[in-house]
Amino acid sequence: MNFPTTCPECAREVPAEFADSLIHDLTCPACKARYVVFVRKQKFEVLFDLGTRALLEGYAREAVASFAAALERFFEFYVRAYALERAADAALDFEDALSALDGTWRHVASQSERQLGMVALAYLLREGRSPDFLTPGALGSDFRNRVIHRGALPRREEVEAYAARVFGLIDRLLTELGPGAAQVELAQERAFAAHLATVPEGVVAVFEEHPGMFRARRFAGPEAAVKGTPDKAPTPPLNDAQAFAWALAERGAGPGPLKRR
Ligand SMILES: [Zn+2]
Repeated sequence: MNFPTTCPECAREVPAEFADSLIHDLTCPACKARYVVFVRKQKFEVLFDLGTRALLEGYAREAVASFAAALERFFEFYVRAYALERAADAALDFEDALSALDGTWRHVASQSERQLGMVALAYLLREGRSPDFLTPGALGSDFRNRVIHRGALPRREEVEAYAARVFGLIDRLLTELGPGAAQVELAQERAFAAHLATVPEGVVAVFEEHPGMFRARRFAGPEAAVKGTPDKAPTPPLNDAQAFAWALAERGAGPGPLKRR
């Protein structure tokens, strides 16, 4: 998926392709200026926005794969957030904690069933209750498998319902995590800083935040008022479908380029 960047030298719009690292080394095709764009966003957010864009453009089946991947990457985000939060509480060195976490994740990286096991334990330890969201019904697993593994052609309404379910789950867990998510964002900032240190003199660094579905809702939506009190956050006033529709409308960008600031 492409997103627009602006050349810092000649102000021309230059499309860039989202990189896995969210670090983009670019050269303006017009004036040949080199610059680096760092996108402050998590992988699950990029994937969810990709799914949303596919859905809005009429690619319902393709959207399902992106929403499903977004949920898997969100579960990884949750585990990382919890592990780094614990390490911070125990005053462990951040780099040591991060490298132990990476080493641990390697054991589960290629098997999503193992990752679900990690999420189950992380949720139990953090919230003190069993993860009610890991049932096939709550995850929409049957629908996902029918589409992804058995080639079913879903109707748009079905995909919207699945997207709303994934959106509602991620939104709920993000709300429960609250400030707990900050440690993962810090890890991204450190990765950006490490890359920035290797950037040659004269290459401009640009940091961007793309609002995306979850940020729009977290920072501007009806949930914004409960930010900072994650442990006792009230039940969202909207159901998942309404919340998803609200965030979709709020996003405002439609199928076009993502909004930037
Ligand atoms: Zn240029």
